[in-house]
Amino acid sequence: MCIFCKIVAGELPSYKVYEDDKTLAFLDIKPTSLGHILVVSKIHYANLEEIAEEDLSALILTVKKLGAKLKNKLGVSGYNIIVNNDPVSGQEIPHIHFHLIPRSKEDSFSSWPKISYAPGEADKILKQLIS
Ligand code: 5GP
Ligand code: ZN
Repeated sequence: MCIFCKIVAGELPSYKVYEDDKTLAFLDIKPTSLGHILVVSKIHYANLEEIAEEDLSALILTVKKLGAKLKNKLGVSGYNIIVNNDPVSGQEIPHIHFHLIPRSKEDSFSSWPKISYAPGEADKILKQLIS
């Protein structure tokens, strides 16, 4: 059983923020910022390709609820919603989860790199994506 399944089953402790029949939300044990929340599906799915649509719907609705809570209860002015999907993207726990990461004007998180398409490259990628 993976760590998040153990948390869902109550075999490992967590700071539980919210629970319904399909989802569970708890504080990240090593937060990027205070109030960093993880929202997990109660059923184990590795990633976004595996998760059933009804469980994904429930997951994103819980993310929406908790985003509002971050603003209303913690006074957070904005937050990032992140899914690390597969190990290459940084996913360490192979059980789909959304991160809600509170942000502030004062934090110093660096931004994603921005690159440019070489001539013809965007057309090529578009053809592959829509074929
Ligand atoms: P990932 O890299 O898979 O997207 O994120 C996994 C997250 O789970 C990390 O931010 C990490 O701090 C958190 N985490 C790992 N183990 C535990 C745990 O046992 N309890 C809690 N609450 N969070 C955990
Ligand atoms: Zn699991």
